[in-house]
Parts: sequence; structure tokens; C-alpha cells
Amino acid sequence: MTQTLEKDVTSTLKESLKFVFGYTQFRGNQEAIIKNVFARRNTFVIMPTGAGKSLCYQLPAVVLDGTAIVISPLIALMKNQVDQLNALGVNAQFLNSTLSKAEITKVKKETLNGEVKLLYVAPESLTKEENINFLKSSKISFVAIDEAHCISEWGHDFRPEYRKIKSIIDQIGEFPIIALTATATPKVQIDIQKNLQMEDADIFMSSFNRPNLHYEVKPKINTRKQLIRFIKQHKGKSGIIYCLSRKKVEEIAEFLKVNDIKALPYHAGLDAEIRMHNQDAFLNEDVDVIVATIAFGMGIDKPDVRFVIHYDTPKSLEGYYQETGRAGRDGLEGHCLMFYSPNDIIKLEKFNKDKSVTERDNARYLLAEMSSYAESSVCRRRQLLHYFGEKYADQLCGESGGCDNCHVAKEKLFDGKEKLILVLDTATKTGQRFNAEHLADVIRGVPNEYAVSYGHTQLDIFGKGKEEELKTWLSVIRQALLYEFLEKDIDNMGVLKVAEKGSKFLQRPSPMTLAKDHDYSDTESEDDEVEQNVPPTRSYDEVLYDLLKGLRRKVAKQMSLPPYVIFQDPSLEEMATTYPTTMEELAQINGVGQGKAKKFGKQFRRANLQICGGK
Ligand code: ADP
Repeated sequence: MTQTLEKDVTSTLKESLKFVFGYTQFRGNQEAIIKNVFARRNTFVIMPTGAGKSLCYQLPAVVLDGTAIVISPLIALMKNQVDQLNALGVNAQFLNSTLSKAEITKVKKETLNGEVKLLYVAPESLTKEENINFLKSSKISFVAIDEAHCISEWGHDFRPEYRKIKSIIDQIGEFPIIALTATATPKVQIDIQKNLQMEDADIFMSSFNRPNLHYEVKPKINTRKQLIRFIKQHKGKSGIIYCLSRKKVEEIAEFLKVNDIKALPYHAGLDAEIRMHNQDAFLNEDVDVIVATIAFGMGIDKPDVRFVIHYDTPKSLEGYYQETGRAGRDGLEGHCLMFYSPNDIIKLEKFNKDKSVTERDNARYLLAEMSSYAESSVCRRRQLLHYFGEKYADQLCGESGGCDNCHVAKEKLFDGKEKLILVLDTATKTGQRFNAEHLADVIRGVPNEYAVSYGHTQLDIFGKGKEEELKTWLSVIRQALLYEFLEKDIDNMGVLKVAEKGSKFLQRPSPMTLAKDHDYSDTESEDDEVEQNVPPTRSYDEVLYDLLKGLRRKVAKQMSLPPYVIFQDPSLEEMATTYPTTMEELAQINGVGQGKAKKFGKQFRRANLQICGGK
């Protein structure tokens, strides 16, 4: 691209970002991704939930000539996006099995006339002959494939129809592809690129850090009481509570209702109609809290979920991260609270007893990672990002929403230099071929089968750390991994090797702060706890904010849309700070494009005026 052209593109994109979407700045990689789509290059986007994937194809679709085809796996997700785009004044439509014949004819006519900027299609509809023919006659700008991990059998959400997408696109014509997903291990990533024949694609991988989320784990003691207290401190805010079983979901929902909290249950055992009703009630803010099994969440992109609580310990960190990721998608506060008990892990282990050996081993490994996460006093963010294979700066929680460990772990800190030397020495002297449990056994002088047959009982380090418990050594080993003194052997599951940083440390050891794990056998009464969750003071006018929220709910009801489609929370907060009373002022608010200012502006300006006048 020449420099002038590049400049033109940059300013065109910025203008549309403000004019249509009402945002003043791109987030993370958005601009680079959009420019790549503009340059008609194949693009592969890996971004965590809530980071802003949709804009990466919505904005180029609005600016480029023709219609962008967006392939999306869920009808609810499509409807949601189409509603949001229509509210912005963008002509977006969907083509799926819920439409009547007349509606299909209308969508096709508008597309052929070049009026539709984004056409959402389910992969099933895409395979239909008549749709292929119709798309062949339309002017297509590019193809976006959302939730691209559905292509891969290695992913957690495989959809066989997704594997046919590429051959169908080829029948329609030759277009650039943008594939997007929030979860892609390297294996899944290669699978997606191969299947879409886009090995040449430019890859944009974002950090999985969600800076606005606050992570906290509490012991499962007086849990119901803790739950009520937490929700009352977050009064009027939307939250999800995940429970392991349907029965527990029902019980907790009922318990909350009795305690004057507007809550409804959601699980696969409910009638489809009731399930839909409860979900809508949550989206439309008729209730604040939804109590659910993990059946709830996929395809729901409510941006203003302010807290996600795991009442029971989840089965894996992947699941936990996916579920907590549903909090604070709009970039504002998101509190992720998990109640943990080692008994939950034992209970979950029992569920696996009928599985095959490999499945059981895998499930046990995931559970062990889960309990390590809960019991460790190391920064939660560091642990999570390490789990997803990400390198990071030292002070993660420093700039982010923080975690309980970063706030309270100080008294648990100790200089772990000597312990770390012993761990690294043991890994070296046993030939870097063993897992954490074996290393801990050798250090503690446990003559297990391997220690005897490999001669580890003869080593000078054998039994050198016998005064400490197994738990302590496992914790030190885990931290050695987290701080990259040890690394996992890629080819042999569980095997630990000394990393470069570890070798350097052994040559010149220096003090190294480590943290003692939490003790969850402690059953101290919750009443003795220090009150920690004092709600922060607000920088905006709370009276106006509540008024605007009420107004938003009313307008949304009239239009049968979820309230966040009208304006999202960050926009309302800004209005309650700057009191925009003219159309121009309103259009300056983040998240309010010209389309929304025109559509909904009048009533909201009036509310601002009313408050301003009263001041
Ligand atoms: P994802 O699909 O990656 O989970 P979304 O596309 O739903 O995320 O975006 C998450 C939230 O971020 C939405 O509420 C969206 O309006 C908001 N958002 C996206 N891009 C921007 C931006 N550049 N500035 C401000 N907010 C943004």
C-alpha cells in the first residue's frame, strides 16, 4: 500500500468507527486486522471472549462494497448481532431456518440489490443448492467465519457442517476469508487453517488476559450466606451463578428468591419454553441473576454481566476461563468468584470412574490443575495465562482488575531459594525424565518403585526435604513451573525438565519469593472474616444513571430488544458523567454512533436535560 493510500484507509476506518459504531479508538489488534481484511488477505484472528472480534468483520463489511457473508453456528447469536447492527443503522440480515418464505425472498432481494452489508448464514443453510446459486449472483465482499474452532475435531465444540464451508465458498466464488475464534490450542489452529486452505493467512493472536476481570477464590464455608452477601453488595447488577447439578441450580435459584433476589434457574432439564423465557428475562433485565449449569452461556453475549460465581468447583480451567470470560465483556467491572472445596474435586473424580483409562487420566489431570489453581497463593492471572501457554510481564495484576492473591498473599510469602535449588537439583540428578509427584517423593525420601529401580535412593538429595509435607513440595514445583525455572516436556505428559532460567539459577542462586498455598481444611467461621467487598464509589451521577437505565429498559421493551442493544453500560456511565443534551454531544459519547443518536437520542437527551435542569 502506498503511504497516501494507507493514510486514506486509516482515516476512513477511524471515521466509520466513530460514525457507525460510536467508538473513538480501536481495541488491541482490531485496526491491524481490519486493514488486513481491507487488503483482501486471508486473516486468522484468535482473541479472548469479550475482546471485540465482531468489529473486525463488521466494520470492513460496512465500508467495503458488496455484502459480507458471516457464517455463525448459532441462530441466537446471529439474531443478537443482527439486532445490534440494525440498532446502529446498518442493514444486516440473516438467512436461517427460522425465516418464512416471504422473509427469505425479502432478504434475497435486498442482498441482490446490494443493500445488505452483512448476511449471517448458518452452515446448514449455506449447503443448500438454492442458496449457493443466489449467493453466486450476489456481490460478495468477503467471508467471515465466526467461532472457527467448530471446524476442528480437536476443539471443544466440533460441528461437522463447518468442515464443508471451504468447498461451498469455492463454489460461490473467490473471496478473502477471515476466521475468528476465542479458543485455539496450536493443534486446533493448524486444523482450522488446513481445512480452510488458508495456511498463508496472517495470524493475529491477542493476549488472553482480561484486564478488567477480578479473580477470587473463597473456601466453601457458609457458602449460601456468602452468596447472599455478595449479591446484595452487587445489587441491581447482572450476574451468573454456575452450579454443577440441575438440582443445585433449582435449590439455589429458590433460595435467592426467598432472599428477595430476582433470580431464575437455567438448565437442560427445563422445558425449552421455560428455558427460553428465563434466558430472555435475564437478557432483558427482568431478573438480575441467572442460576445455571454450564448449559447456559454459549451464544449469549450480554455485555454487562458484572459477576460470574462458581458455586461449585468447575471440572477444568478451560471451562472456568470460558465461563468467567462472560463477565465484563464491555470492559467494565467483572467479578469472578469461585467457591472451592477439596471435596468438590473428590466428587468430580467419582464421576469419571466409568470412563476409559485415557479419558480418566486426562480428566484427573484437568482436575489437578483446577485444584492447584484454587489452592495456590500465586497471582491468579499469572496462573491462568501460564496455563494457556502465554508469556507475560511480571506485574500482571498491577494494571488489571486484580485478584485476591495479589491483595492478601503477603503473609504467605517466603524466600524459596533453598527449596528451589533442591527441586532443580533433583530434576537434574534424576535425569529430567520424571513428573512432579516423583520429584517430590525423592526429595522427601519416599522409596517408591521408580526410586528404587532407578537408583534414586542412592542420590545425595534423596530425603533431603523430608521435614516438609508432600503438598509443600508439590507447591514449590508448581511455582518453579509458573516462574519458568522448570518446563513441561512437550512429548511426554507430566515430565518436567530444567528450563534455561533454572540452569542459570543453579549456577548463581539468588533469593526467590515463593508463596505458601491456602489451607482449605481450615473451617474458620465466615463471620470472623474481614469485610472486603466494599463497593467502590462511583464517579458518575448515580441518580441520572438509574434514570437512564430505567429509560433504556422501557425503550427496549417497546422494541422487543434486550436493553444493551439500545445503549451499553459504558455509554450510560459516560452520559451520567457528561450530561449530553444536544444531538452533537450525544454522538460524542463512546458507543453512540450517528445511527443510535438519531434513533434513541431524543428521550435520552430529555432525561439528561431533566437532571441538568434540576441541578
Ligand atoms: P467477542 O466477540 O470477541 O467476544 P464482542 O465483539 O462481542 O467480543 O465485543 C465485546 C464488547 O466490546 C462489545 O460490548 C463491543 O461493543 C465492545 N467493543 C468492541 N470494540 C470496541 C472498541 N473499539 N471500543 C469500545 N468498545 C468496543
